[in-house]
Amino acid sequence: MARTALITGSTSGIGLGIATEFAKAKYNIVFNGLEPNGAEIAANVGKQYGIETMFFPANMLKVDELKDMVTKATEKFGAIDVLVCNAGIQYVSPIEDFPAEKWDAIIGINLTSAFHLTKAVWPKMKEQKFGRIINIASAHGLVASEFKSAYVTSKHGIVGLTKVLGLEGAPFNITANAICPGYVKTPLVDKQIADQAKAHNMSEADVVNKVMLYKQAVKDFVPVETLGQLALFLASEGAKTITGTAMPVDGGWNAQ
Ligand code: NAD
Repeated sequence: MARTALITGSTSGIGLGIATEFAKAKYNIVFNGLEPNGAEIAANVGKQYGIETMFFPANMLKVDELKDMVTKATEKFGAIDVLVCNAGIQYVSPIEDFPAEKWDAIIGINLTSAFHLTKAVWPKMKEQKFGRIINIASAHGLVASEFKSAYVTSKHGIVGLTKVLGLEGAPFNITANAICPGYVKTPLVDKQIADQAKAHNMSEADVVNKVMLYKQAVKDFVPVETLGQLALFLASEGAKTITGTAMPVDGGWNAQ
């Protein structure tokens, strides 16, 4: 029977890249995200790869919507075998101007939603003695950059949560791992490029080369396919002894 993966924020960017790799491997996929054409995106991936999909526009800040998504998907597919917590947002500002509501939203979406979703899928994973939690953290889960207080905090937090889940899941063949990407060319980064170009009165090319990729030894954006293939491996039975890790996929940024 096909396994089922629930991937948050999978109607854009990295999440969609991960969903596509799981679709190629014939998983059932529970899509989620706030893009207005999310249902269409999910249906198209389903059609293209001949797999079953569901779509929920559950808001990561609304616990009831998260629980409802897990309940309905479990009713249809029997279990969520793989949970990928990927939905995330960014906001860049010096600490003294950082809006409190942006702090709350970033911690809520990037970190707290993973706690609620994990709680919701855990009992079934425990019962069936198989579960894979994959959290999309960031290179910023391991190191800091200025002006990203909430984001860096949320990503360090999810690395901590991942370690705890790795320990708690071990007796039940539930693993938890965090993937820590460097820069990936997605709508989230496109917005940062445009914002920083405006803020620093620089060209967008200079923002990419002098502000972003200068931290990476490999001067290329990380392809979403790389992240999708790593997630797929972490979801496999063969990866059962890999747990509690935070894996940089960041072109050598964290090697320095
Ligand atoms: P993206 O903006 O392309 O996609 C983010 C997804 O999250 C979208 O589907 C969006 O609808 C969803 N989302 C946002 N807020 C939500 C909410 N309240 N409820 C439900 N869904 C919500 O961004 P991306 O670059 O693909 O980022 C995906 C993840 O990867 C994030 O956690 C991000 O922090 C992380 N990440 C990105 C990069 C990068 O360079 N792009 C690097 C490291 C880590």
